[in-house]
Order: sequence, then structure tokens, then C-alpha cells
Amino acid sequence: MKEVILIKNGELALKGLNRRTFEDVMIKNMRRKLTDLGEFTFTPAQSTIKVEGNDGADLEEAVNRLSRVFGIAGFSRALKLEKDFDLVLEQTGKYLEDQLLAASTFKVCAKRSDKKFPYDSPKICLLLGERLLDEYPHLSVDVRNPELTVTVEVRDHDIFVHANQIKGAGGMPVGTAGRAALMVSGGIDSPVAGWMMAKRGIELTAIHFASPPYTSERAEQKVYDLLGKVARYSGRIELSVVPFTEFQEAIRDKCPEDLFTIIMRRMMVLCAQRIASHTGCGALITGESLGQVASQTLGAIACTDAAATMPVFRPLIGMDKDEIISISRKIDTFEISILPFEDCCTVFTPRHPRTRPKLPDVIAAESALDVDALVERAVAGVRKIIIN
Ligand code: ATP
Ligand code: MG
Repeated sequence: MKEVILIKNGELALKGLNRRTFEDVMIKNMRRKLTDLGEFTFTPAQSTIKVEGNDGADLEEAVNRLSRVFGIAGFSRALKLEKDFDLVLEQTGKYLEDQLLAASTFKVCAKRSDKKFPYDSPKICLLLGERLLDEYPHLSVDVRNPELTVTVEVRDHDIFVHANQIKGAGGMPVGTAGRAALMVSGGIDSPVAGWMMAKRGIELTAIHFASPPYTSERAEQKVYDLLGKVARYSGRIELSVVPFTEFQEAIRDKCPEDLFTIIMRRMMVLCAQRIASHTGCGALITGESLGQVASQTLGAIACTDAAATMPVFRPLIGMDKDEIISISRKIDTFEISILPFEDCCTVFTPRHPRTRPKLPDVIAAESALDVDALVERAVAGVRKIIIN
């Protein structure tokens, strides 16, 4: 009995002439995820990609990993048969035994792209339906709202039998929408923001600002762990850790306290876009959400944005905290995010941050800093870590 995985492309199917390019990237991403599980071949046909492993390939784990590949709308484990309808009748009941036993109603759905096949779709449904009713007398047929749909696909070279497609991760294949740098803290929001942009096809790199000794190694480890979870979806992430202590101390010593946070944000953006452009990124990504804290009011975001020369993507901007948390639970970052290690933002938090900062005031306050030299030294001190 030969089992394969059938992948249904999502939005990919809409891409017309570019479809092949998108499909190639998705296949490359899938191949990378499965390398250590056996040898797999990937065969695109119509809006499906057939994934076939060698004998002994771990299909269970392959399905698990493929559920995190963006661009896949849905997939099924399927029985692959030669083009002999007797085999379909003989083997379907056995192959789908667990699902058929668990269901009380079912229907058969036939898709026949090979129009020369001697049985047409209604005939396939009728004969296989009767056979399954014989084998599983507890079942009844419900064509409108069945618990289980048994699908028979008659293709040019093979027949595939499967039941109830599993939902895929959706979105676009990572790498089809360019590259961007995720500004990642140890909080709940930024990993979710990275995941959302990866879902739109963005390849991620990441930038983290650390301020030792105010922030600890454990806080940095937390960032690696968070990115590790995101990388299960996005693939490999190159992380740049930026030494930010000198910068923060300069801000603390020379700028008005109520503008600390907003100036720090702007300085982060200046450093981040330098690093981002060196690594081929076309945008920054942050986890900001409108109104969540003082530095995320419209006025504060306007001041931060004014420091940026590249686009800043803020995919969480209109989301509530509970919506963000529900994604962080789904991608398994939540439990890590809530570990209580100090972040560089919390180290010099002003007692009364200004919620309506005026850009000219902020720029005037920054003139007390030697910004160019500070950026230069911060960027020169970057450490690179590869997260897989
Ligand atoms: P998060 O949960 O992502 O930490 P937050 O709600 O705590 O977000 P802030 O601390 O105000 O919000 O940070 C806003 C955004 O700025 C973060 O989502 C992140 O993109 C970026 N950021 C904050 N701190 C850092 C840091 N130490 N290194 C890199 N980026 C950071
Ligand atoms: Mg934070």
C-alpha cells in the first residue's frame, strides 16, 4: 500500500503566469523541512503537488511539518493506486478504516481528470458507496452534510483515495515577497508580527537590542527561543544582536526623561535600518499595536516613523491584545514570552512618558546626543546568530 501527501495550493493558484515561480519556492521550502525524514519527490500537477517519500520515510512527521509551510491551503494523506477500479473497491475500506469507524455518515466524491477512465464520477460514487456500506453497516450516506467525505481522484497516471482534507497554514510561500528585518523583543507581540509577515511570503531576518548588564543572558536566550518557534514556519532566521547599553545610557544622561522611550525607539530604527539594508532587507517589522502603550499612540508612532527611511510594517496595528495572544498561543510563543526577564525597554522606563510628543521637541532633545557616532559603534558591535 503506497501512501502519498497531496498538497493543495492556496492563493498560489491565483497567481496566473507567476504560479510556477511561486510553486518552485514552495517546493524548495517543503524540501528543506523534510530533508532529515527521508527522500521525497515533489510533483506539481494542476493545483496539487504530490509529495512522495521513499520506503521508510516518516510520513507522520512530514505531515506535521508541512502543516507549518506557508502557501499550502490544505493537504491530505492519500492512498496511491494503479488505475484499476477493483483496487479502489478492495482497498479503500481498509485504508480509511479508523475514519470510517469513527463516522456515522459519509459520502463519496469522485474527481475524474482522466475522462477516458471507464467509470464516470456518478458510477464511482455509487459503486464505492455501496461497497463501504457493505463493509461498515453502521454507516449511512448523507450527501448534504456528511461527517466524512471519501474522495477518489482519477488522474492521468494514478488514482488517489483520501478523506477529509487537513487545513494548511495558508498565506504565501516564504521568500516570494522579499526580505524584511523583524525588530524582536522578548515580548508577546513582535514574534507574532514576524509570523504574520512570514505568512505573507516575507523572508525574515531579525534584530534585537540588548543592554547588558541591565539585561541578562537569559533575556537574550528568550529571544533565541522565540525566534526558534517562528522559524518553524518562516525557515532559518539570521539574528543580529545589537549592543545598546552605551546608547541607552547616553539617552538617560542627556535627554529629558519624558522623551526617553520615544528617542530610544527612533534610535533603534536608525540602527535597525542600517543593519537591514546591509542584509538585503526592504522593510522593518515591529510588533506595535495602536494605543497599547504610551510609545504606541498615533503621535508617538509618527515620531518613530519620521526616523525611518524604509517602510515599517506593523501587522498588529489594529489588533486587540487578546487577538494577538491567541495567535501567540497557536504558534507556541506565548509561554516563552511571558517569562519574566527584563527587556532593554523596561530598564530606563520614564515615570511619565509623553503620550503626545512633538517631533521638533524630540529632534531638539536628540541634538544632545552624538547620534552618528553612537549608531556607528552600535552597528559595529553586532553579533550574528543563526536560528533554525
Ligand atoms: P513586544 O511584546 O513585541 O515586546 P510591546 O508591547 O512590549 O511589544 P514595546 O516594548 O513598546 O511594545 O515595543 C514595541 C516594538 O518595538 C516591539 O514590538 C518590537 O518590534 C520593538 N522592540 C522593542 N524592544 C525591542 C528590542 N529590545 N529589540 C528589538 N526590537 C524591540
Ligand atoms: Mg516589549
